[in-house]
Amino acid sequence: MLTIKKYIPPVPGRLLKSTYLALRGLYYRGNHYTCPVCGHGFRKMLPGGFNLPVIKEKHIIGAGRRDNDICPYCQSTDRDRLIYLYLKYEQLFFKQPNILLHIAPEPALYKIFSHSKTIDYHPATKYAEGFYYSTKIETADLLDLHFEEASFDWVICNHVLEHIPNDRLALQEIFRVLKPGGKALLQVPYSILLDKTFEDDSIVSESDREKYFGQFDHVRIYGRDYPNRLKKAGFVVYQVNQKNGFRKTPSLDKFAVNPEELLFVCDKPLNKSRL
Ligand SMILES: [Zn+2]
Repeated sequence: MLTIKKYIPPVPGRLLKSTYLALRGLYYRGNHYTCPVCGHGFRKMLPGGFNLPVIKEKHIIGAGRRDNDICPYCQSTDRDRLIYLYLKYEQLFFKQPNILLHIAPEPALYKIFSHSKTIDYHPATKYAEGFYYSTKIETADLLDLHFEEASFDWVICNHVLEHIPNDRLALQEIFRVLKPGGKALLQVPYSILLDKTFEDDSIVSESDREKYFGQFDHVRIYGRDYPNRLKKAGFVVYQVNQKNGFRKTPSLDKFAVNPEELLFVCDKPLNKSRL
């Protein structure tokens, strides 16, 4: 059984880190990119991710090394910034009260959501050996969420499903805890070359998963059929393309996001139970 560890870094450690990030932000400041999460301008972002042959071969979006991935100051990634831009400019997310379940919260988004006055924020994750989390993040198992049906207006689950063997059950749980009319952002790494999702439960070793799925703890590579899996859970799915789906922010180049990445926006229909 996994040991639950909750940890708050001691104050000197936190101060040291925030000072380091502020100095790093100053060093990289400039006008080429703007981080929408922290609002600062930078001459470049920091590289992130890593390359493996399968990531390139299958052209997996949301994986692999990116030159301008991590904000030098707030540490948001290109994926975090895309989600934030969509919620801020294309949705009424911050303009009206919302109850949000955020699975495995990314630190940069956690900071934004936890400081918002309109969001009733529920960050939750499955605690794992060797990882440290804020005590404000509650324990939750995505395969057996302890929340009542129809509890949330929004669920954000970013790059989690590719780690879960029974992702269909996880999707059912997300659907269950959403209110009718609620929305989920369900981002995963996906191959634009694969018609069908590739999964094989005989591939279990870390080295084989890295070789075939692109990361040691991934259990599949989603293909272009990923939206069908979402629809089977009952969602109405919108694949938001940055060119035609961002009507209020037509050019995202300056925000250093991956122009190829789609957002998978999933609506729980009103007055309709799971299909
Ligand atoms: Zn930033």
